[in-house]
Amino acid sequence: MNNYSEYLSLLKDAVHNLDEWRTLFGEVSDVVKKPHLQNSSIQKVLDDLTERLKNNYPFHHPQYAGQMLKPPHPAAWLAYSLAMTINPNNHALDGGPPTSEMEKDVVKQLAGMIGYDENHLGHLTSGGTVANLEALFVAREIYPEKAIAASANSHYTHSRMSHLLRTDFIEISVDHHGNPDLQFIEDNADKIGTLVVTMGTTGIGIVEPLADILKLAQKHGFRVHADAAYGGFFKLISANLPSKEQWDCLHECDSVVIDPHKHGLQPYGCGSIFFRDAAVGKYFKHNSPYTYFTSNDLHLGEISIECSRAGASAAALWATLQLLPLTPAGLGSVLQKTREAALTFAEQIMKEPGWQLYNTPDLDITGYFKEPASKKVSEISRLSRHIFNAGMNDKSSGFHLSLFNSDAAHFIKKFPEYSANENQVVLLRSVFMKEEHEQFIQELSNRIFSVNTD
Ligand SMILES: *Cc1c(COP(=O)(O)O)cnc(C)c1O
Repeated sequence: MNNYSEYLSLLKDAVHNLDEWRTLFGEVSDVVKKPHLQNSSIQKVLDDLTERLKNNYPFHHPQYAGQMLKPPHPAAWLAYSLAMTINPNNHALDGGPPTSEMEKDVVKQLAGMIGYDENHLGHLTSGGTVANLEALFVAREIYPEKAIAASANSHYTHSRMSHLLRTDFIEISVDHHGNPDLQFIEDNADKIGTLVVTMGTTGIGIVEPLADILKLAQKHGFRVHADAAYGGFFKLISANLPSKEQWDCLHECDSVVIDPHKHGLQPYGCGSIFFRDAAVGKYFKHNSPYTYFTSNDLHLGEISIECSRAGASAAALWATLQLLPLTPAGLGSVLQKTREAALTFAEQIMKEPGWQLYNTPDLDITGYFKEPASKKVSEISRLSRHIFNAGMNDKSSGFHLSLFNSDAAHFIKKFPEYSANENQVVLLRSVFMKEEHEQFIQELSNRIFSVNTD
């Protein structure tokens, strides 16, 4: 999976084949003599680039369990590279007829995964931020006088985008387990136009109680938007998740965001947004003399805020889903492994003397910490930082984790033996989003546990 040069010959053949198609239109004037197009010039730049790229962290390796990062499926980068030589633009059908068709195809598959019927509206975006912006834009158009609400654990994009949209934002408080305060929602229900429910928080992957919130939405008449940017593809294996009940009602949400560039094995530049009711398309209506909507079919640019978008992204996702369809045995098998990695890691933490689990993972993200001798939260933070740095500084048998800030007041509700001598406590966090993590957990935990903190 990680040996990319192995796949290069496939790309060479495919590019060659497309070159033949290109020549069908006749010769293009000979520009190959230009210095910037000569192999030797490009080679030199690529050599420099290669050296520069080596300054990355090893995102491909299971010793990297830090942030939500991993290389795409080989089919995705091959398909992206191939389509990019044409560079179609999925803004309009005429900008790339085949890749627009592929986008409609993958949108249908994703909508099917959510459980939406034929009446949905959806498209790919350049990422989760724009996808959520579209959802909140529609939210504001439908309830211009009301607020957008999201929990304290929601992605910061929601409060920021509410600001951008000049709409009120209500932060819903959470308890020490990270659950949104349902009583607070009831008390503020008349002010809320749309409530954001996060299906896999960016911090530690909490799946918020969608089923209960949908009941409140019915009672009080507010809309529900599911931000499943991180967690969306876990729907494929939700039968095996403790949060099954929440996933079972995903299709009842008014809108859903899922990021294929997080758990869909895609290169960056691939988010998606879905609305349950296609009638919201009217809020995107625009009329411009310079776009090129030559047919009466749906143009993706008519239902999105963004204009130009890479057709190559649609090609990459389409190719990936040909190999790993949206089924438990297809792409779901990848998520099952990441989930098992997180559970096994959590078991290792619980077994290891002197270590504590902060959360039982809802998905594939685990929070934990090493117990200091003195029961002060500041000492936990110091140890977390020390271990985090030690892993990164060890080149041969190191590891890459991330740090996670928690409210100390919440922390001591879970761990009352500690004193909150600071407002925040820094914990360790591991994101196990690669299949390869499953086989590496024992080794990774050994490396982490063997850091000397004396
Ligand atoms: C990643 C993420 C976002 C932001 O999406 P980008 O693709 O990074 O723009 C929003 N919400 C959640 C829950 C996320 O995990």
